[in-house]
Amino acid sequence: MLGTGGYPARRTTFSTRFALILLALGVLIAAATAAIPLSQSNSETRNSALVRAADKAGIAVNLLRSQQQSLSAYVGGLAPQLSAVSTSGAGLEPVLQGSSVLIAPGDVLGVTGGSAPRAFKGGTQVDVSQAPWNELVGAVAQRRTVVVTTAQPPFLVEQAAIPQAPGTAVFIARPLTAAVVSQLANTIASSADASDVVVVQQNAFAVAGRLAGHPVAVGSRVPAGIATLLSPGHGPEIVDLDGGTLAAAARPFSGGLTLLVTSQVPPVTDLLTTVAAPVGLTAVAMILLALVMVFIIVDRYLARPLRRLDRAVEALAREDFDVPIPAGRDDEIGRLGQTFDRMRRELRGTIRAAEARAEITAELNAAQPLPAALTAVCGRLRAGTGAERSVIVVASSSIADAFAASEGLSRRPDAGTLLRADGPIAEAMRLDGTGPLIAGALEGTDEVRLGMRTICAAPMRIGQRILGVVAVADKEDGFGAIDADLVLTTAEQVSLALERAHVLALAQRQAITDEMTGLYNYRFLVDYLDQQIALAERLKAPLAVLMLDIDRFKSLNDEYGHHAGDQALKLFAKTMAGTVRRSDLAARYGGEEFCIVMANTPREEAKKVAEKIRAAVAAIQLPVPPHPRPISFTVSIGGVAFPDDTGNASQLLQRADAALYRAKRAGRDRVCFANDEPVRPQRPRRALAGRGVDREEDDEQPESRRSSQ
Ligand code: GH3
Ligand code: MG
Ligand code: MG
Repeated sequence: MLGTGGYPARRTTFSTRFALILLALGVLIAAATAAIPLSQSNSETRNSALVRAADKAGIAVNLLRSQQQSLSAYVGGLAPQLSAVSTSGAGLEPVLQGSSVLIAPGDVLGVTGGSAPRAFKGGTQVDVSQAPWNELVGAVAQRRTVVVTTAQPPFLVEQAAIPQAPGTAVFIARPLTAAVVSQLANTIASSADASDVVVVQQNAFAVAGRLAGHPVAVGSRVPAGIATLLSPGHGPEIVDLDGGTLAAAARPFSGGLTLLVTSQVPPVTDLLTTVAAPVGLTAVAMILLALVMVFIIVDRYLARPLRRLDRAVEALAREDFDVPIPAGRDDEIGRLGQTFDRMRRELRGTIRAAEARAEITAELNAAQPLPAALTAVCGRLRAGTGAERSVIVVASSSIADAFAASEGLSRRPDAGTLLRADGPIAEAMRLDGTGPLIAGALEGTDEVRLGMRTICAAPMRIGQRILGVVAVADKEDGFGAIDADLVLTTAEQVSLALERAHVLALAQRQAITDEMTGLYNYRFLVDYLDQQIALAERLKAPLAVLMLDIDRFKSLNDEYGHHAGDQALKLFAKTMAGTVRRSDLAARYGGEEFCIVMANTPREEAKKVAEKIRAAVAAIQLPVPPHPRPISFTVSIGGVAFPDDTGNASQLLQRADAALYRAKRAGRDRVCFANDEPVRPQRPRRALAGRGVDREEDDEQPESRRSSQ
């Protein structure tokens, strides 16, 4: 299943996996901790039960044997008495009868051999010709110590020979009754271990009794689970009987009888609750506690920092380089985070710089005024480096004064002062190496006044010419190599753009400038005049036009040469441009004819300007060595004013030309305005010695003036 970002929505976290492993380990350890004492105690209790059963079987056999011994001792003591009786001739019977009363009830006392066997039980003679007594008497004759009869329980039999009556023996037989066996069981039992004893003969119970709490009848078969124990030499064993677990041991007695003793085995559940459970529970609790602690530690010191790292690296994968990678502690993960963050910052810097470079190129190539382009570049540069401030200072050139574009400065920078002062920007201007300058600005410098402290600056250079400085200032984590590189390439790009603008401006200026005089040319004059005429008509503003023609220039050329004529033309243009106001436009109309357009200038003022020009020109003295005399010449000026002289502004040029014509006709070296009273021919000042004669007949018609160029 994938989440929105193409990443798995659910992932096994490190902590979960670690915790699961720990949990599995803990459970294993707990189980082992619990199981070892459990199995140990179980095997211990089983072993001790087996030993107990075997011991008890031995004790039971010994108890029976000691009974036999006491029976044997009894008859051993009785035999001499009977011997004495038989020698004295008295009958044995009274003694036997009397003794049979004294012995344990059920015991049978008798004699064999001699005349006839006799036996007494509790003072009463039993019929030895009848079963089981005949079997008993027969067994005594065969000197057997244990007798199993058909109808009675088995007997323990002991006998002693009567010394004075050879061939005769006194015997005592004690029946192995259920009561005797039960007595035996009670003797070997203890309060903690209720043992049972049964007597078995050939896989069947020979005496009634109890086994594992259940009564067993004489003649019934021994259960299969125990029967195997009865084989000779078989050791004790744990057996399951009627759902109970017992330790059982068999011990052969005499006469084919075997004693089977059971001893109780404490149940396993008891072991669990007494030993295993507390140990196991404690272990589980401790392991759980350790688990929780390990989980907390792992989560805090490993998983959480790794998760944070994971999130941050994921952001990197999404190309989101602005999410900082937390540094964390000073450990392996922390250091990994720091390395990642350094990588992130470098990547972000490189990407930002590449983006900024492309944007800067686009801004510089966009159709927009240069100052707007440079301000936009400042913005891109600031974003690209992450600096707080940026500035581009352009030095003055032949086409423009020094100026600056900036972003983030506290006030408008003064380009001229910045470049002349001794702060880092002026220092960058003088850099001759390839790298940029990274320096702090000192108190009192212009840079500090503008809010710039740490500055990274590079000069803008075309060949050996320095065009200005590109600078960024103040970045939180300082300027690095990527920033320096961006500042440097920006300086190069802006230099090229400035140079392009410079060349373009020069070409534009050349297109509208007269090369010889530096004045505007005819083409520009016509455009400008059209604009001014339209403006004057719309705003009803005054507009004046002057037409100027140097007097008798042909003669000047003839006399001084064409080169001197050119010099005179240049000086005339300079004099004229120096005399008009800044708002007036002076242009070369053609040849030695000029035009002045004066916006917002009423007729009288225009006349004053014209007169001022005329006088200034008349005062020119241009030395042309080796010629002995300096050149001097005069100018005729025709003027017209809108709306004073004409309501039709489009006729201004024509009317000015006509006025000039009249000025020429009137004798030259004078100002003549349209609608002026016809100027009376006055005696012309001699412009040039020896050629001061008016030659009105030479005057051309105004219409032909341009075509003559
Ligand atoms: P007027 O007083 O009637 O104007 O007499 P003028 O000799 O000045 O007559 P016109 O205006 O017809 O003559 C113009 C002369 O100016 C012709 C030409 O030789 C000279 N001229 C025109 N352009 C230049 C130039 O660029 N350099 C020089 N040296 N002479 C020029
Ligand atoms: Mg002329
Ligand atoms: Mg002329």
